[in-house]
Amino acid sequence: SVVPATRALLSVSDKTGIVDLATALSRHGVELVSTGGTARALREAGLAVKDVSDLTGFPEMMDGRVKTLHPVVHGGLLAVRDDPAHVASMQEHGIGAIDIVVVNLYPFEATVAKGAARDEVIENIDIGGPSMVRSAAKNHAHVAILTDPADYQIVLDEIAAGGTTLATRRRLAAKAFAATAAYDSAIAQWFAFADQGETFPATLPLAFARGGEPLRYGENPHQSASLYLPRGPHANGIAQAALIQGKAPSYNNLNDADAALELVAEFRDGPPAVVIVKHANPCGVATGKTQLEAYKAAFACDTVSAFGGIVAVNRPLDEETAEAIAAIFTEVVVAPDADDPAKAVFARKKNLRLMLTGALPDPARPGLMVKSIAGGLLVQGRDNGRLSEDMLKVVTRRAPTPQELADCRFAWTVAKHVKSNAIVYARDGSTAGIGAGQMNRLESARIAAWKAKDAAEKAGWDRPRTIGCAVASDAFFPFADGLLAAVEAGATAVIQPGGSIRDDEVIAAADEAGLAMVFTGMRHFRH
Ligand code: 5GP
Repeated sequence: SVVPATRALLSVSDKTGIVDLATALSRHGVELVSTGGTARALREAGLAVKDVSDLTGFPEMMDGRVKTLHPVVHGGLLAVRDDPAHVASMQEHGIGAIDIVVVNLYPFEATVAKGAARDEVIENIDIGGPSMVRSAAKNHAHVAILTDPADYQIVLDEIAAGGTTLATRRRLAAKAFAATAAYDSAIAQWFAFADQGETFPATLPLAFARGGEPLRYGENPHQSASLYLPRGPHANGIAQAALIQGKAPSYNNLNDADAALELVAEFRDGPPAVVIVKHANPCGVATGKTQLEAYKAAFACDTVSAFGGIVAVNRPLDEETAEAIAAIFTEVVVAPDADDPAKAVFARKKNLRLMLTGALPDPARPGLMVKSIAGGLLVQGRDNGRLSEDMLKVVTRRAPTPQELADCRFAWTVAKHVKSNAIVYARDGSTAGIGAGQMNRLESARIAAWKAKDAAEKAGWDRPRTIGCAVASDAFFPFADGLLAAVEAGATAVIQPGGSIRDDEVIAAADEAGLAMVFTGMRHFRH
């Protein structure tokens, strides 16, 4: 199953590494066949190359639409070398076998991304390239198909050792079909959306080809899992973060770190902010004059849950914050960057994973959320809805004070990232209590208040931080009871979407208690 290399066909748009590869191939005695631009690049490097048009007896024609679509090429790719009938056909029609194929495709996505006119986009739909890729991949029993410069060296090493191995050719074939599938899916999306004048899904990297990086396991050890990465342009999300130290992140680590990063990114233009996440919910979020101050405030919100948590910061991590984080068991720290002393602190904690993201992603960017249900996929745009001043409507007799309003906005931003039903109490730029994921809003309000009380007892404060706080609810209060639970906890200001048929009752209860309440008109369910 080792196939020695005698003839290679090279036809690439992305010419990265092609001269080095072709030079090495010809040094191993491999004959080079190539298309127009690729042949030119190789000749300029002083290599002997045969033109595909000499092989086919046809010139490249129709603006390059027809270059390699010919039985002499596809017969040479598809022939089963040990099938007598195939061999007879090769002899009869003068078809020579091709063992190595190096193809990458017209840059369709890049052409769309640069805003090219329709005609140019259409012209960048590669036809002959994917055909060769698929022919070669189908016939991987005899042919090695290279679609990624990252694989050039492996194949050269094998050729130097006598020929390509079946295992490598199979792996390359899988990669090749993934590449053509992603390529066609990008084209299909463009026709379905962008070409209809719709910009929304077309801006999303749906074509996932660099796929299936295996993770150790899924949410539980008996579930398998992988990480898929977008081929095209992407935001610098958690999937792109660099792991500076620690074991490879697990499925749960990535899921939690994503929740932490997405929330801290909401504060990317503000003062130092820290988010601590457990099981994809924040258990403490705070801003502060310094990073350490923000960390301490976030930690104080729920010191019990913070154990084994995921910490995300919105500024380069500094040493004193790193020391504070390292003082308790922390699974993952996510930061745009970290200074050397901070890295040195973590270097002593072998099990801590440090992930650096570079500039934080834009919280307002469009994006795609995918969730599978039995038999299908649910796909939606990411929740990039953000609060602006003009959305806020004061509905109570009393308007919030500037401090209450600031706390309302902070609580609202956090609530957007808490699983529904979400209730968030906040004061002075930090969370006082978070109620997440309950099946009714009243219980979330009660749990958040109870947690705030517990935190106060643990810290030895004379009263919980919910006294005089703002409360955010991710969706409207269907009844006054949830709001009354917040009043009982000490809240003086409320932010919520509004829109319940019982809004009047809820507003009356708020007025009765002297609360200030604003409606946002926007809901942030998160399930
Ligand atoms: P070159 O720069 O060598 O002239 O062209 C290389 C590109 O042409 C590659 O991206 C390859 O996929 C593409 N290609 C090769 N054969 C054909 C063909 O018959 N039709 C079309 N449309 N593209 C081809």
